Amino acid sequence: MIFVLSGPSGSGKTTLRELVLKDGLLKKKFVKSISLSTRPKRLGERQGKDYFFISEKEFLRLKRAKKILEWTKYLGYYYGTKKDSFEANLFKGKNIILCLDFKGALRIKKLYPKDTVVILIIPPSVKELRKRIEGRSLSTNQEEILRRLKLAREELKNSSQCDYTLRNINLGRAVKKLKDIILREKGPWVLARRGSNR
Ligand code: 5GP
Repeated sequence: MIFVLSGPSGSGKTTLRELVLKDGLLKKKFVKSISLSTRPKRLGERQGKDYFFISEKEFLRLKRAKKILEWTKYLGYYYGTKKDSFEANLFKGKNIILCLDFKGALRIKKLYPKDTVVILIIPPSVKELRKRIEGRSLSTNQEEILRRLKLAREELKNSSQCDYTLRNINLGRAVKKLKDIILREKGPWVLARRGSNR
């Protein structure tokens, strides 16, 4: 199955994904899809762990060669999911968790309608979102912050098209809720495994 965490930049979707994948059982059966990105690396981000940071020229070459499954352009930078690694994981029978904008989520849902679950992550408040966006902007450029906030408001309008919405107010509780969603969708498999481990 494919779980897409969508929602605005700053909603906490990547943190949620990291924490959910700390669960021993889920860790074995799930992989995270690491996107390509042409934006500059932020402080603390690692090549191949957070993104595969590549040049715009390389991204466009891969796109032309149809090696990108879905992509978006966000604030002037390209982001995309590489087709070969995604398909290889599906082939190996892995479940995949992706963090994508809404355009990407819809594309994956269209490609794999029966296997995709889209979860919209909603930030606690506009004030908190602004704080997070200010923290992650590539500069203190007020214009970039305002553009991220504007895009965030647009992303939040899509809740009716998602399978689940999850308000990320308290991180611990949000992680639990996300695990509950995964267990609900993957229930029989997980419960069988738990049962046989006893
Ligand atoms: P950021 O610059 O904050 O890391 O990411 C900007 C936005 O791009 C976020 O909403 C993030 O989820 C989205 N994003 C990251 N990787 C991908 C991708 O491969 N495809 C799509 N469609 N969106 C992505």
